[in-house]
Amino acid sequence: MNFIRRLATTATNTSLQDVVIIGGGPAGLTILSAIKTSPKLKHLKCTLIEGQSLDPIRNFYNDPPENYTNKIVSLTPKSIEFMNNKIGNWEFINQERIKNYDGIIAYDSQDSSSRIEFDIGLIDKDSLATMCEVINIQSSLLQKLETLKQEEEGISEDDLTILDNTKVEKIENPLINEKFLENHDLNQIDPTLEKPNLDWPIIKLNNGNQLQTRLLIGADGYNSPVRKYAQIESRGWQYNRFGVVACIKLQYEDFRSVGWQRFLTTGPLAILPLTEDNATIVWSSTPELSEILMKVNDEIFPHLVTAAMVLEEVDLNYIYSVLAKNPNDFSILQDIEWRLSKFNSRDLDENYPLPVVELIPNTKARFPLKMSHADTYVAPRVALVGDAAHTIHPLAGQGLNMGQSDASALINALEKGIDRGMDIGSTLVLEDYVSNAWPANHALLGICDKLHKVFSTDFYPIVLARGTGMKALNMFDGVKSIMMNMISGR
Ligand SMILES: Cc1cc2nc3c(=O)[nH]c(=O)nc-3n(C[C@H](O)[C@H](O)[C@H](O)COP(=O)(O)OP(=O)(O)OC[C@H]3O[C@@H](n4cnc5c(N)ncnc54)[C@H](O)[C@@H]3O)c2cc1C
Repeated sequence: MNFIRRLATTATNTSLQDVVIIGGGPAGLTILSAIKTSPKLKHLKCTLIEGQSLDPIRNFYNDPPENYTNKIVSLTPKSIEFMNNKIGNWEFINQERIKNYDGIIAYDSQDSSSRIEFDIGLIDKDSLATMCEVINIQSSLLQKLETLKQEEEGISEDDLTILDNTKVEKIENPLINEKFLENHDLNQIDPTLEKPNLDWPIIKLNNGNQLQTRLLIGADGYNSPVRKYAQIESRGWQYNRFGVVACIKLQYEDFRSVGWQRFLTTGPLAILPLTEDNATIVWSSTPELSEILMKVNDEIFPHLVTAAMVLEEVDLNYIYSVLAKNPNDFSILQDIEWRLSKFNSRDLDENYPLPVVELIPNTKARFPLKMSHADTYVAPRVALVGDAAHTIHPLAGQGLNMGQSDASALINALEKGIDRGMDIGSTLVLEDYVSNAWPANHALLGICDKLHKVFSTDFYPIVLARGTGMKALNMFDGVKSIMMNMISGR
């Protein structure tokens, strides 16, 4: 390790690092904090680079905005355990802005009696999952890093650098030039090292500075420049669907504390509880429908959500067609009310979420949905984590949680490497990470992809089969508890 320290502090024009992380999203900040809290890794000289400003995240801890922000995720108990026990950032989470929930009620738009209810009682745990803003997670990680710096004999400024508002423009392998790289596979290159850091990636920044690193971690999202540098193939497809997210207010606080998910043929619509009467929605929809949802008047939108959780798709299609012509057509509110009035009020109270009464201003946004999985997560001196490695349909709320599992598996691999006195950038060390993280992620990606496909059709034989399947499944508590353990990451 002395050897690493010596290299990392050599004075050259290029700043030498043990670890450079590109990306200050939840995955990048998690891996940085996990390295700096690990007794075996904390001495590593680390730099994190983020293209955007982290100021809103820094300010969140002392001065959070009044309303919820719109990037809200469902965290599994496993992710929380990792943040609580391994990293220790959970104590810096703003607890007033998180919400545990106890169950999920999922039902089919083609037959509302085809439903499956997951209840916490089945698995004897405190909660199924916890709703939390992404900014709350990021802010707690930054706060944890701050306290590490302030501790007596804590982390030195020199060993922990965060460069925000700084873009990575280019990553180069000093061994080879770009032309060579076009025709060769980086994984096949066997570096005959004249200098120990000859094959360390060089990271060129938009401010003219450059870094060279023993290990480069790509936490740089779906379009990952690190993945491209490492020539790692990523396979998958666009769903031709958008996820429309928004924060809303329900008629009153729903003490049932459950998440609701209705599988519409255009994609699932989920309402997930937040504190008091707040909730958040993820409405997966076709490009055309998502455009209507984005344009529709803010006062009509809540009624549209209520309608979409209850009415038949034929009714909904009519409502969408009216709003496509005029997104401010308030006459549709009467129409929705009339259609809802045909339902028995007791049935509505018991079997559906509470009516939505308000859209929190400026919280509506849409994201393209895609499935992608990198062939591997590592190359010599490179590891990928989070969305750089995989993106998943949000219907099971697993994307960010998978990034947390990646971070946990990568830290374990690096710790093992250090224990054995190995170079943390070598593929021998990094392979352990892939073999632990890749198969589980692949299985989850496959399950969510199949669920999306099975539910996004109104082809009658499939509707019949899935309805029968859901009803049958709902009767078997044993199978449901296995599924719930999976949902909650246990
Ligand atoms: C609609 C929707 C709902 C979702 N719901 C859930 C949920 O309930 N539960 C769940 O677990 N997940 C959910 N997810 C997924 C989750 O939001 C993502 O998986 C997660 O935020 C990805 O984090 P990340 O840090 O890997 O990537 P990102 O958040 O994409 O971060 C990558 C960072 O890298 C930076 N970067 C990229 N290139 C450069 C460069 N050249 N130089 C410098 N910086 C760079 C970017 O600025 C960015 O900040 C949802 C996603 C969607 C779309």
